Amino acid sequence: MNTIKTDVAIIGAGSAGLSAYRAAKAAGAAAILIEGGAHGTTCARVGCMPSKLLIAAAEAAHHAMHTDAFGVHIEGTVRIDGREVMARVKSERDRFVGFVVAGVDAMPGADKLSGYARFIDDNLLQVGEHTRVHAKSVVIATGSSPVMPAMYRALGNRAVVNDDVFSWDDLPKRVAVIGAGVIGLELGQALARLGVRVSVLGARGRVGPLTDPEVRNYAERVFSEAFRFEPRAQVQAAVRDVDEVRLRYVSGADELVEDTFDYVLVAAGRKPNVAGLALHNTSLELDANGLPVYDASTLQAGAHPVFIAGDANGVLPLLHEAADEGRGAGTNAARYPNVEPVERRAPISIAFTDPGIAMVGARHVDLTAESFVTGEVSFEDQGRSRVMLRNRGLMHVYVDRASRRFVGAEWIGPEAEHIAHLLAWALQMKLTIDEMLRMPFYHPVVEEGLRTALREAEVKLR
Ligand SMILES: Cc1cc2nc3c(=O)[nH]c(=O)nc-3n(C[C@H](O)[C@H](O)[C@H](O)COP(=O)(O)OP(=O)(O)OC[C@H]3O[C@@H](n4cnc5c(N)ncnc54)[C@H](O)[C@@H]3O)c2cc1C
Repeated sequence: MNTIKTDVAIIGAGSAGLSAYRAAKAAGAAAILIEGGAHGTTCARVGCMPSKLLIAAAEAAHHAMHTDAFGVHIEGTVRIDGREVMARVKSERDRFVGFVVAGVDAMPGADKLSGYARFIDDNLLQVGEHTRVHAKSVVIATGSSPVMPAMYRALGNRAVVNDDVFSWDDLPKRVAVIGAGVIGLELGQALARLGVRVSVLGARGRVGPLTDPEVRNYAERVFSEAFRFEPRAQVQAAVRDVDEVRLRYVSGADELVEDTFDYVLVAAGRKPNVAGLALHNTSLELDANGLPVYDASTLQAGAHPVFIAGDANGVLPLLHEAADEGRGAGTNAARYPNVEPVERRAPISIAFTDPGIAMVGARHVDLTAESFVTGEVSFEDQGRSRVMLRNRGLMHVYVDRASRRFVGAEWIGPEAEHIAHLLAWALQMKLTIDEMLRMPFYHPVVEEGLRTALREAEVKLR
């Protein structure tokens, strides 16, 4: 058994762990990065990047099939070659993974350990069966994994998760997607546009991350027109029959549906990877889900020399948050016990559906009624959106009555990923609605729709 002493041990070499390692080193500490699985990060290997590659192929197919309204006719057929689609997804994905792996390869060998880590006590880790690491402080950056309910586990390899999709060599013909969150909607719509017969089944009425009832209802209508979308389905049975899965569910309209699929893609949420860490060996306080109780501002677990960053803490499972939290946790771990609050950016989240879904700042559900006014725009008659035939969408912006400050927005609509950045920057700069309306708006652009929503809110404040 090898024994190593270090200042900071980081468990998990994903986006959070890598930035924790760099931050700890930059703060002058000795650091060791421990990875149990393959290097390359969830984002690059099976998350953000391959999903966007699949969506890019789906958009190409969709645009090619929807030119007639412009007077542009494609003679002949648009043929989707599933093997070529998946080959590009995988080869471009491998390229992105290669950059991450090259970065890890360039790290000093003494700073890296392979193997799954578990705690022996607050400062002592067992890595695989070969090494013990004594660390002055530890960063848990172990990421998250898809939840696989027992009903689907029984389907064996016909129940898949995002990781499996990105190792397909070809596209299947029929897929049931379980879960109407961001991952379920993104992958479901992409597969549907690539010619797969898709049903997306949610259980609790969710449409991505949206909490504003009107925007959510609008989004539900948009997706229901594009593929079979049942956000309130009660799945009663999932039975494997050779290479098929028979699903029986009750739809939101109380209809009993029986359907057969090649795969069930389970996207029913993700859970932090903490089960294998033997946290019971530490003095950390654990919550009902077995997660360490920690301070969201410093990422420190109680007063212990343990920090938790990225998807592992189960709060903001987004790439940029993982990187920011990793940096903060790595810095705090290096200067423990003199920890400081981690700098936070304005909340922003995006679903790369079409139309896109975005949320900035406070969620509608978290705002106190009467404290804010809502400005609205429908993109159906918005000039540039109509020009491009992308005129589906509804945006709500929320403005605080007392301060006149922009506090949040939820919407579905064209160019959502870009408008989300404008709004997140405005929020972080604490702009009032008056200051935002004094900003330039070119013509004709989709952002003019945002201005309509802001103006409506401003009128309500008079
Ligand atoms: C399909 C999909 C699409 C996504 N799209 C987006 C997007 O468009 N935009 C966005 O912002 N976010 C997106 N995300 C979320 C984003 O990928 C994650 O928030 C981010 O990758 C989390 O990084 P992390 O460092 O916390 O975890 P990870 O990158 O998963 O790293 C954790 C690492 O810890 C290792 N590990 C676990 N346990 C141990 C142990 N005991 N010992 C040693 N090592 C261990 C794991 O092997 C892993 O390498 C998407 C996620 C998915 C699944």
